[in-house]
Amino acid sequence: MEKQPVAFSSTVLIIGAGPAGLAAAACLTSKRISVLILDREDTIASLWRYRTYDRLHLHLKKQYCELPIPFPPSTAVFPSCADFLRYLDNYAETFRLKNLLRLRRRVDSAQFDRAASGWRVDAVNLETGAVESDGRENDAPVLPVGVNGLDRFSGETVHAHQFRTGKAYKGLDVLVVGSGNSGMEIACDLAESGARASIVARGQIV
Ligand SMILES: Cc1cc2nc3c(=O)[nH]c(=O)nc-3n(C[C@H](O)[C@H](O)[C@H](O)COP(=O)(O)OP(=O)(O)OC[C@H]3O[C@@H](n4cnc5c(N)ncnc54)[C@H](O)[C@@H]3O)c2cc1C
Repeated sequence: MEKQPVAFSSTVLIIGAGPAGLAAAACLTSKRISVLILDREDTIASLWRYRTYDRLHLHLKKQYCELPIPFPPSTAVFPSCADFLRYLDNYAETFRLKNLLRLRRRVDSAQFDRAASGWRVDAVNLETGAVESDGRENDAPVLPVGVNGLDRFSGETVHAHQFRTGKAYKGLDVLVVGSGNSGMEIACDLAESGARASIVARGQIV
């Protein structure tokens, strides 16, 4: 693929328009540092817009999840996914971040060039296929391999990013592997929806 001459020009290139990327962009622009945000998806906060289940709420109280703008007083103490998306959309609007976004850009490499004392970042424009570069300067699901007996299991196996609601599993035995944020809430959703849910946790701390 042919490389275009410097297509991005900014002091700071932020990879990812999730909450962290948006917060970094807002803080930097408020100090008049020029910023460009690249994201491979077609929207900000893609994790929350495209890869979440129906009942998802923030797991911490809203004051512990705020970017540099408070949640509105009317938002519940544990905001829903929709509340959080509204908050992030408003956040991007308030700090005028949308003009700084370059969406559908997948960053494939970032290398530090010692001679030039700067980063070289290559991104594919997913609309045109062109490779765009800046000379100055993931959330793929991880599926465990080699789970003993999985090849003989005839039931359904799904990764958390494909799960939408426990209602689809009513009356079924479901084993949730992992007790992180997603595993705990999905198990709760399953139990409340009438599935018989169990959790496997690798660690021993309860
Ligand atoms: C179920 C659940 C509940 C959570 N609850 C809370 C909570 O209550 N409080 C809290 O503070 N946190 C919570 N978190 C954790 C955390 O706040 C969120 O995961 C948050 O979305 C992380 O923000 P981020 O910007 O770091 O990453 P992400 O939201 O994952 O954003 C990363 C962005 O980078 C983009 N990207 C990735 N690779 C590339 C690439 N190569 N090129 C271009 N773009 C790329 C992606 O498209 C994505 O938009 C929770 C997480 C989950 C899963």
